Amino acid sequence: MPEDRMIASDYNPFEDEAETTLRPKTLREYCGQDAIKDTLSIYMQAASMRHEPLDHILLYGPPGLGKTTLAGIVAAEMGAQLRVTSGPAIERPGDLASILTGLNTGDILFVDEIHRLSRAVEEVLYPAMEDFALDIMIGKGPSARSIRMDLPHFTLIGATTRAGMLTNPLRDRFGITFRLELYSPEQLAQIVKRSAHILRVEIDDGGALEIARRSRGTPRIANRMLKRVRDYAVVRAGGRISLEVAREGLDMLAVDALGLDHIDRMILRSMIEKFGGGPVGLDTLAAATGEDTITIEDVYEPYLLQLGFIMRTPRGRVVTALGCEHMGYPASASGALHQQLRMDVDDLESEEDEP
Ligand code: ADP
Repeated sequence: MPEDRMIASDYNPFEDEAETTLRPKTLREYCGQDAIKDTLSIYMQAASMRHEPLDHILLYGPPGLGKTTLAGIVAAEMGAQLRVTSGPAIERPGDLASILTGLNTGDILFVDEIHRLSRAVEEVLYPAMEDFALDIMIGKGPSARSIRMDLPHFTLIGATTRAGMLTNPLRDRFGITFRLELYSPEQLAQIVKRSAHILRVEIDDGGALEIARRSRGTPRIANRMLKRVRDYAVVRAGGRISLEVAREGLDMLAVDALGLDHIDRMILRSMIEKFGGGPVGLDTLAAATGEDTITIEDVYEPYLLQLGFIMRTPRGRVVTALGCEHMGYPASASGALHQQLRMDVDDLESEEDEP
């Protein structure tokens, strides 16, 4: 398998077939995202006490952070049915109408990639979310009229990689919005240990933390790496994953000690070598590396930002001194440093301008 598929955080049926078994089923089992869990459990308790369905929820954040899992947990904790679909799967307004009319009161409708709904489909969703109503057009031409049909009170959980990709009217109709954060290595190590337990693999703390450190803050990648290392451990180390075994197994995947692969390194190198460390705009970076802008923004950039290897500035992305050092360049190649110097000079000049 090419190594770039290993760290792609999108769902991959060949790699992630065990995902359903590894998915936490309760809020207690769901590691990390503490602020979201606290708020969500209050909302869920309040809704249950009022005997009302939960408000519509928008979840956003990079792929593989647990949005689908969270929707499943909400459904389970509310004792509701979960219906899962995605933006691209709902092609016509009629498709959505048939999903909506098939729901029961309290059901949770999870729409992944909700930013990819067409305009016509979105129009059907607005009254459904706001008034639990479906407007149906009958007839054509001058005699056409619309009738309104009541829908059961359901909860929509929408997931998207970025809230900015949603249209305003759709975003405004969500009562609750949560942004999922990348996980810390310690949280991921907990997830790895939980998954290892389910997969019946023996793993020690060092092994779990090593896998966690290389998983780009993403549970899906951590689980995938665990399965890879398990195979290695079975063949070479009697099935037990220690720090050494994890290291050896992961080195074979061409992922470095911090989980960076060749595309991350290409992004950093091209920022340093071609653009003097930045600032560089996203489109320029995409053209220089041959990746598309959405992949850079959703998959690569969040992790490089979390590591503190790049920074976003009003003029574009810059590499930090830390990023330069990791790539083996002197800290002076950092665009962040240049940017700071340039701002200091601007300040000096504007001070000089003052009477
Ligand atoms: P998304 O919908 O955001 O792409 P998923 O909900 O499908 O991500 O999560 C991918 C996998 O990662 C799940 O199968 C689950 O095993 C694991 N996972 C995600 N979040 C957590 C978490 N907070 N705790 C434990 N495992 C998690």
